[in-house]
Amino acid sequence: MLARAADRSAAARTDAAARRDQAVRAAVEQGVVGPAAPVVGLLDVVGIRASAAALHAAFEAVTPPGTPVLHAFAVKAAPLVPVLRLLRSAGIGAEVASPGELALARAAGVPPTRTVLDSPAKTSAELREALALGIAVNADNPQELDRIDAMARSAVTGSPLGIRVNPQIGGGAIGALSTATPTSKFGVPLRDEDAREWVVRAFLDRPWLTRLHAHSGSQGMPLEMMVRGVAATYELAEEINERAGRRQIDTIDIGGGLPVNFGSEEETPTHAQYARRLKARVPGLLDGRYGLVTEFGRSLLAKHGTILARVEYAKRAGGRPIAVTHAGVQVATRTVYMPASWPLRIGAYDGKGRPKGGAVVGQDIAGPACFAGDLLAENRPLPLLEAGDHVTALDTGAYYFAHHYSYNSLGRPGVYGFAEYGEGVRFAVVREPQTLEEIVREAGGGPERDGLRQL
Ligand SMILES: *Cc1c(COP(=O)(O)O)cnc(C)c1O
Repeated sequence: MLARAADRSAAARTDAAARRDQAVRAAVEQGVVGPAAPVVGLLDVVGIRASAAALHAAFEAVTPPGTPVLHAFAVKAAPLVPVLRLLRSAGIGAEVASPGELALARAAGVPPTRTVLDSPAKTSAELREALALGIAVNADNPQELDRIDAMARSAVTGSPLGIRVNPQIGGGAIGALSTATPTSKFGVPLRDEDAREWVVRAFLDRPWLTRLHAHSGSQGMPLEMMVRGVAATYELAEEINERAGRRQIDTIDIGGGLPVNFGSEEETPTHAQYARRLKARVPGLLDGRYGLVTEFGRSLLAKHGTILARVEYAKRAGGRPIAVTHAGVQVATRTVYMPASWPLRIGAYDGKGRPKGGAVVGQDIAGPACFAGDLLAENRPLPLLEAGDHVTALDTGAYYFAHHYSYNSLGRPGVYGFAEYGEGVRFAVVREPQTLEEIVREAGGGPERDGLRQL
């Protein structure tokens, strides 16, 4: 049984790599990538559907039939409307944290009942809109709860309302992504003096508050720490329900944050492993008494995205071969600025998009931006790259090519979904590449913007 499951996941890994190789070849042959479009983002539609199905299965396996579970994709991980639509068709909702993200979710047709609003800086206007639409809202702090109070008094809302707490269980390997440190800016810090009692009272005083939310961190959080954050939230829900003498809290939002393995093809940990760990450690959460919301982002999308770029020149400096490519800080911002925290696997392909063989040598994979640190990888052992070859940056489906950084006015690349059919690989446009006209307009260009000189 175990051996068979391991075989299956090994086969799934090989499939994903084979699909990617096919897509790279087809992108070159079909001109999706080429001299006029030297960098693109590719999304594996089959892989995304498989991850969505695996997420559903993971929580179905640990909850009684009929338990309400909403998987709300964290839109910030891939703010692309066709991706949100694809996920919607796979039964996944949306977690949004800004007016822009809410607009994307609405454009994708995600219904308000499957949308959750979580930002730490919601304006009154945003709150009013969310309450009018019936979108679930998690209040971040006492001042925000005051605003919701006033709105709830003056209008009826169908929005499920909750409070975000910070279980203060500590940080993971990446400080900037750790949201459950003692001084994190998110949620009500549960271990601060009197804070826990404040949360309990907030619920007892407001019978319409029905949810608790925690998101303890993203990439770099050990699974065990995430489980501890969820356990602390569950225990608080139990305490509140006991003191209320009824099941006031009916839904717990456990956030996202499942880390992704950027080191190999293997998907580890899986959503199923996380769900089983929760079942073992926090069984009461999953026994059917609570509805659940999850907010996974990176773990649903990262493995299914590939940056594909042409090697424009191959040169050498101080003995080091350098491949100058079109993928750098504009599409891999975190990796370029914090290479130790965000290493990416790099693939080497020839001018026809075929995997490149041959002896490996240490090479710098450089980007197009005008600063020396614009490197996707430093001294990386790869078959020697030449001008006209291609490189891929793997596992970049979340927080990479969808998160353009417009340094040097480098354009946003096109993004394409792909799937293989009998006759070959087909591509569908997710996002058109940014045009030069758009770059100029978005930089304040145009005759109507001449006010500076008149000041
Ligand atoms: C960023 C974020 C998520 C998603 O995190 P991932 O690591 O991409 O799964 C979920 N919930 C909240 C509140 C977030 O801020």
